[in-house]
Amino acid sequence: MKRILIVEDEGRISSFIAKGLKAAGFTSNVTGDGLSGRDLALTGDFDLVVLDIGLPLLDGFSVLSELKEQRPELPVLVLTARDNTDDTIYALESGAVDYMVKPFRFGELLARIRLRLKENQPEAPATELVRGDVHIDLLRRQVRVAGKEVELSARELSLAEILLHNRGQVLSREQLLSHVWGYDFDPGSNVVDVYIGYLRKKLGSDFVTTVRGFGYRVD
Ligand code: CA
Repeated sequence: MKRILIVEDEGRISSFIAKGLKAAGFTSNVTGDGLSGRDLALTGDFDLVVLDIGLPLLDGFSVLSELKEQRPELPVLVLTARDNTDDTIYALESGAVDYMVKPFRFGELLARIRLRLKENQPEAPATELVRGDVHIDLLRRQVRVAGKEVELSARELSLAEILLHNRGQVLSREQLLSHVWGYDFDPGSNVVDVYIGYLRKKLGSDFVTTVRGFGYRVD
């Protein structure tokens, strides 16, 4: 199982990322300051680091430059604040493999993490999720139903993905909302139900089961 280190001092963001990673089958550790982040990344057995820039004790840029010096093979994905292009450019020049601008959707972060892990392991087989007639190729972001290609939007795809990864378990609207739409989305919204409807239309009416009062489940 792949291990991800999350270095982020804002609790709601780090727990949002950790929950999403767990649901997607990754193990993660969270730390909230740059010093322990650096130490963990150097000593721990991690496959990738998600690193915030504004951190207490040691800022993200200093962590990044020490990691690049001492563990250049370890991929680091940087989280930057909205509209701070200078930070983003500087992070990429300092050796970050990728970046996400806050606020972001978990599905997008997950796609980037998968891509970077895949680049580090060229022989790894393509990741495919299958349920009955439905085949989802996670790396190519391609969906086929009974052999026919079906177009899913990024959000539909990430909704189908989280449900399939947690097959047999009921996921609440709040869990789905936070995974697919992000931690800033209005919890009173009915957008999840609307998108479940889109998935049923595209992937088959029996793709998702409604569990009244709780949420949704794929069997
Ligand atoms: Ca921060």
